[in-house]
Amino acid sequence: MTTKDWNISKLQVLRQCHRKFYFAYETAMHTFTNPYRRKAYELLKMKTLKMWQGSIIDWMITKEILPAYVDRKIPDYEVIAKRGVDLAKRQFEFSKNRFYHANNISRLEVGADWAILDIHESLTPFQEIELIEIYATIEKVLIDFPTYESPVFGKSMEQYLLSARFLRPDAKQMKYEYGGVKVQPQIDLISYMGKSMHVIDWKVSERDDADYSRQLLLAGIVALGFSRQKYRQEKWLPLPTLKDVRLFEFNLLSGKHKEHVFNKDAVANALDTVYLLSDDQEELSQSKSWENLDINEYERTNKVSTCAVCNFKNLCKHVILNGLNYDEAKYLKLVQNQKLENFAV
Ligand code: SF4
Repeated sequence: MTTKDWNISKLQVLRQCHRKFYFAYETAMHTFTNPYRRKAYELLKMKTLKMWQGSIIDWMITKEILPAYVDRKIPDYEVIAKRGVDLAKRQFEFSKNRFYHANNISRLEVGADWAILDIHESLTPFQEIELIEIYATIEKVLIDFPTYESPVFGKSMEQYLLSARFLRPDAKQMKYEYGGVKVQPQIDLISYMGKSMHVIDWKVSERDDADYSRQLLLAGIVALGFSRQKYRQEKWLPLPTLKDVRLFEFNLLSGKHKEHVFNKDAVANALDTVYLLSDDQEELSQSKSWENLDINEYERTNKVSTCAVCNFKNLCKHVILNGLNYDEAKYLKLVQNQKLENFAV
């Protein structure tokens, strides 16, 4: 049996719309060799202003704040907040100039400044005031972060992070294999206290989404599996069990956190969902090469609300109007016309 790599975004998209899955996970390709596939990639990476605000905060916490605590140092929050806003401004300029669409500019060389915003790529309407508010929010959240409540009652986030035995931020490399499916969730932080561990997910949007709990459950499963493996290697006993894992979702915009249940039933349900959906994907793509896939087999959702927030909505419309083919010039015209329609509303 071949092993399939899964992450929560893939599951989420497959559940929402098969056509979206086709664009996001079958078609999107970062190279510029095929304009259709490149466009799908750009749309996959494109962010709304709110998502972008969250991604900057997340980046600064993961790359600057937590590494300082790993080294038992207290970060200079004023400096970090300023750097976060500067990064946002650079990303905004990069996106505004559409440098992401220039095939002589490598994403690797650009590094953290690389970004695609929907206001530039899909010409989504926005007002200057939104941008000012975003810079102010980034600065405020980063300055307030050490004073947020932590999962340990009575301890601020700063006291909590300093008291952990070990911190593992951005644990992306952890995997868990189940029935031929490899689960590799995005884990923002694991905070270890002896045998027990807190698995933490930074939430950076207002949305209340059931997938946060599924993502956290998968993260908990992976973290526990990894820890048990380490205990076995070191011949430490007793091995950690489900009771040693606690799952927390932190809303960085409000500073509030929420604990999610981690028990046998919740774990079984999360794994079953992964397994069932991986079957669906197998049926759709049957491991064919992109050239041999038939877009008609990827059904479109009939949920208007899903289409309204879909990154691929212009591309989806364009290929339908264009005999299921992609034509860059016609696509750009459609985006432009869409913008005029939006202004007329
Ligand atoms: S616009 Fe709607 S139908 Fe088209 S890919 Fe997106 S979600 Fe699916």
